Amino acid sequence: MKLDIIPDEFTKAIGVLEEIQANGFEAYFVGGSVRDALLNKPIHDVDIATSAYPEEIKQIFPRTIDVGIDHGTVLVLSNDEQYEITTFRTESTYQDFRRPDKVTFVRSLKEDLKRRDFTINALAMDVSGEIIDLFDGMADLQQQIIRAVGNPKERFHEDALRMMRGLRFASQLSFTIESETLGAIQEFHPLLEKISVERISVEFSKLLLGKNRKKALLPFIKTECYQYCPGLRNYGEELLRFSDLPNKQLETESQAWALLLKLLNLSEKEVRDFLKAWKLSNHLIHEVQQLLYGLNRRLSGNWCSQDLFQLGLETALSVEKLLFYFDKKSTLEEVKEQYLRLPIHDRKQLLVSGNDLLNYFDKKPGKWLGDLLETLESAVINSQVANTKKDLLSFAKDTINKE
Ligand code: ATP
Ligand code: MG
Repeated sequence: MKLDIIPDEFTKAIGVLEEIQANGFEAYFVGGSVRDALLNKPIHDVDIATSAYPEEIKQIFPRTIDVGIDHGTVLVLSNDEQYEITTFRTESTYQDFRRPDKVTFVRSLKEDLKRRDFTINALAMDVSGEIIDLFDGMADLQQQIIRAVGNPKERFHEDALRMMRGLRFASQLSFTIESETLGAIQEFHPLLEKISVERISVEFSKLLLGKNRKKALLPFIKTECYQYCPGLRNYGEELLRFSDLPNKQLETESQAWALLLKLLNLSEKEVRDFLKAWKLSNHLIHEVQQLLYGLNRRLSGNWCSQDLFQLGLETALSVEKLLFYFDKKSTLEEVKEQYLRLPIHDRKQLLVSGNDLLNYFDKKPGKWLGDLLETLESAVINSQVANTKKDLLSFAKDTINKE
């Protein structure tokens, strides 16, 4: 079978493949990009596999970078593009369920495709657009099936992360996991314990963001993979409820985690521990906490000025989008207007500064100053005082006198 229209991403790289061939080696496009092209999906990275050894690739191309030479990957810089070119390889004797003990370079494409995780990821394409399909990946693509290459039990034993990858492809592509493959996940899910949280986290977050989350969450729960994911062990019921939410695709990672956490119904402290356990970045953790706070507020009423000010417009709008999952209408335009109407959007816009207050009250700096600034900020946001120096100083004086 031949791909009729070869996407630009491949066309640009054809020169590189031809150059490798001119030196007497084989070269193909492989992996996710071939799968996505056949599915008419946008392509991100074009991976190239070759029979040439890394040293041979380095002799062919003047500009290369060793990015993973032990695994056979060399980055080739060509025109303005860069391509990862990986030598055909086999992986053998996985003793720890996650890393091959030994990577062996081989000259055979078939051997290379055989070590890949799923049939739909084991397709190759040559420079003419001809698809090389040695494991019936095309049939599985057509039937929308995720099937391990070869014996699924062996494949998950070699690398347990593949189970999570299978689930995330089910979500991203809206495919069904083939029954033998699913059975092997069911049987070997405890091997996920051997996999680093970071790697599981990448796959789980892609699963959450996929276009058919539910299609992956149900097997994720049923096979009990969730029991080997941080913080989820005792939350089967809650996860089922999460999977039962409207299946509309989520837009951002923070939305995905916030929605999940809302359904898990954890305390503030537990939320933080949960996100930490998943090894998410501090930045993301903060975003999720903000979203969750906003969501809880918004589910019990309308925005107050103070919350809008604290969270900022972007977070507030993101919260609005989550309301859909709780059968509540989002009011994006109204929220935007309400936000723009706030008298100030940043503490720096207050027309008195800490220094002004120090001079005015002729007092030493201390906790009182921060408290006072906060009071003034709130008062301005809630339109209790105008944001002018005169009004603020008089309001400050009244506040201090009341204490
Ligand atoms: P994405 O679109 O998310 O990048 P992908 O299929 O390209 O999906 P990658 O993680 O980029 O996924 O891996 C590229 C290819 O390498 C896969 O298509 C697959 O053939 C192979 N691969 C990746 N991880 C594994 C694994 N754990 N076991 C076996 N093969 C793998
Ligand atoms: Mg990829």
